[in-house]
Order: sequence, then C-alpha cells, then structure tokens
Amino acid sequence: MATLEIRDLHVSVEAESGPREILRGVDLTVKQGETHAIMGPNGSGKSTLAYSLAGHPKYTVTSGQVLLDGEDVLAMSVDERARAGVFLAMQYPVEVPGVSVSNFLRTAATAVRGEAPKLRTWVKEVKETMAGLQMDPAFAERNVNEGFSGGEKKRHEILQLELLKPKIAILDETDSGLDVDALRIVSEGINRVRATGEVGTLLVTHYTRILRYIQPDFVHVFAGGRIVESGGPELADKLENEGYEAYVKGGASA
Ligand code: ADP
Ligand code: MG
Ligand code: MG
Repeated sequence: MATLEIRDLHVSVEAESGPREILRGVDLTVKQGETHAIMGPNGSGKSTLAYSLAGHPKYTVTSGQVLLDGEDVLAMSVDERARAGVFLAMQYPVEVPGVSVSNFLRTAATAVRGEAPKLRTWVKEVKETMAGLQMDPAFAERNVNEGFSGGEKKRHEILQLELLKPKIAILDETDSGLDVDALRIVSEGINRVRATGEVGTLLVTHYTRILRYIQPDFVHVFAGGRIVESGGPELADKLENEGYEAYVKGGASA
C-alpha cells in the first residue's frame, strides 16, 4: 500500500515585499485507500499545500520532506510525480489550445501508465466514465479548458481521476462553484474511485457540504499554515456548527 508522508513542510512564496512563509510545518500521512479532508479558513494555506505537492514553481519548499513510499517527491519533476502515482487535480488548470479532451486524456494516461492504452478499450472506458459523470459525449471533442464552465472543469478533473487511477489524489476545492446536482455527481465519481480501495485522497475544502456525500476517514483543521487539529468525521460536524473562529483567534493555532 502506497503511503504519502508530509513531514514538517515549510513553504514560502515570492511576494513583492520578498519571500513570505505560508506553510509552517505541515505533518500528514495519507495511505492508499484512506480519505482525508483538510478544512480551514480562507487564506490558511490549503491551496499552497496542494500547489507545493504539485511542484508549482511559485512555491519554494524551505524545509521538510514529502515522501511517497520513501521516495523524495520534492526531487521529482511534475511529470515524474504523476508517473509515481500522485494526482493533482489542478495540475493542468490552464487552457490547452488545440488539444481535445480525448487526446489530452490519452496522452496523460500514456504518461502515467508508461504505454499507450489500446485505442478501442480506451474509447469505451472514456465513454463509460463520462456517462457516469453525466457528461455529454461531445465534450470529449472540445479543447481542454477552453470555455469550460466551473462545473465542466470539475467534472473534467474527476474524469481524469477516474481514468488515471492514481495512488494519491489531491483535490483542491472540488466542491466550489458546483450546484447541488453537480456536487452529487462529482462526489459519486470520487466515491467510485474510493470504493476501489486503491486511492488515497486528500480532499481540500473550505465548506463541509461535500462531506455530506463523501464521508472522510480523517478530518484535519488547517489554520495558519499547518494542521492544528485532527480527528474523525465528527470533527467536520463540529466545524459545521462552530466554524473556524476558535482556530483563527489563537487557541489551538498558537
Ligand atoms: P487557502 O487555499 O487556504 O485559501 P492559499 O494557500 O490560497 O489559502 O493562500 C494562503 C496565503 O498565501 C494567503 O495569504 C495568500 O494571499 C498567500 N499566497 C498564496 N499564493 C501566493 C502567491 N503566489 N503570491 C503571494 N501570496 C500568495
Ligand atoms: Mg517546523
Ligand atoms: Mg484555496
């Protein structure tokens, strides 16, 4: 079983006034088959954690480690991370002009699997997965992210997740901007992946509403650039009722 270990991770961004530390010692272990929710107030550094794991060039790791089965993830290129089985939903958030969804997915699958999937089974697999996400088959011929609505972007993310079958998936704000129906459909996709027992998921979110559809095994409260409390699903209920105030105004974050 694959294990992602984040150890005392410190990350800075280059702000206009100079480097600014955003992550201040994040410790977290995610195993294949587990679902972890990371919840916290706006600006607490949740996306910075996701971008740092993705290898985004704007974020500088100043100390700490990220290991996948003992292998140094931070030393890997973005492509190497994907091949090692780390999936980051916002890895390709930009428009990719002239590349259809269908070709993009096949290229990604080829990179991850090390060989091109057989065309006939692949087309079938894509079609079935899209149907499960209630996506119009014509979507496969559109250019990647060109004019995608918020909901289409999120479905495209989950389509990638289901097709690429990573060991560890990091989903940043998958629930943002979705209406109730889209949220349910996207959640069902995540739950299908989860049901395989082969993917460890880090579900980063500000709101508790996605957790009505996806029951996390672990909930972590993120504040001030690190995890300040961890617990089971009951912690999400507490956050739903009490918000993040207690964490932001000192207390556990001190
Ligand atoms: P969250 O996802 O929890 O809302 P973020 O990780 O997006 O938080 O941001 C955490 C803090 O880091 C914020 O104060 C934000 O302004 C700052 N930050 C993030 N990325 C950058 C950047 N590229 N340049 C400057 N500041 C940044
Ligand atoms: Mg530290
Ligand atoms: Mg964010």
